[in-house]
Amino acid sequence: MTHTSESNLTALAGDDFLPGPVLLLGAPGVGKGTQAQLLVTKYGIPQISTGDLLRGNIARGSELGLKAKEIMSSGHLVDDEIVNQMVLHRLQEKDTHRGYILDGYPRTLEQAKYLDLTIAGPIFLPRLPVLAVSIVVPYDQLLERITGRRICSTCKHIYNMFSNAPKVVGVCDFDGASLMQRGDDTEAVFVERMKTFEAQTAPVVAHYHDLGRFEEADGNQSVEAVNIAIEQAIIKLRGATRR
Ligand code: AMP
Repeated sequence: MTHTSESNLTALAGDDFLPGPVLLLGAPGVGKGTQAQLLVTKYGIPQISTGDLLRGNIARGSELGLKAKEIMSSGHLVDDEIVNQMVLHRLQEKDTHRGYILDGYPRTLEQAKYLDLTIAGPIFLPRLPVLAVSIVVPYDQLLERITGRRICSTCKHIYNMFSNAPKVVGVCDFDGASLMQRGDDTEAVFVERMKTFEAQTAPVVAHYHDLGRFEEADGNQSVEAVNIAIEQAIIKLRGATRR
């Protein structure tokens, strides 16, 4: 990919740029959530994270949450049928008409096919194909990111004990609330999730790669640099697939 400066990028992706549905792919801890938030701000489109939707269901104690809870804490994937219906339901909200950032979905080939053939293009605006951008980070880096991650129980600010520690261990710098560790952010669950990721998500990568709708972004650089790499990939792919 040719180098594009940030100002050129902004010029390329002007106000009328329609990002459409964008799938962010990557192993646990590559920074999908952070990057999704930056794209949300830039393009004014929502982030749809199936992990967040599932955790919301668990917190509310819904029937779906009860089904998902045990599977999630073991590091395995929740049934395709459950997540497909959850995403279908979410896409019915009006904020998705210019596009949306998919974070953590689709994670299997079945989910990708359901998204492409049943919901993304045929039913919901914008009628643009789903693009996939994969954020790539070396394994050891990921392990530190996952096991070191702590989240403020109140403002949800994310810290890392190795690279971005709070001033006082276990306490949020901003509001003094206690920091929490996600139950699945342990090494054992990470190893399981990596196995699941490699086995289940490889076909999703191959699927979008074969359709000519796939790019990789180097995730082992600053948050800003990763963001630029992702935007370059989106613009390139949207140009390539625009009709
Ligand atoms: P995440 O927050 O995206 O890392 O997801 C946390 C957990 O939620 C995963 O380990 C899975 O158990 C479950 N999950 C999230 N998204 C999906 C999905 N698209 N398909 C199946 N399970 C999912």
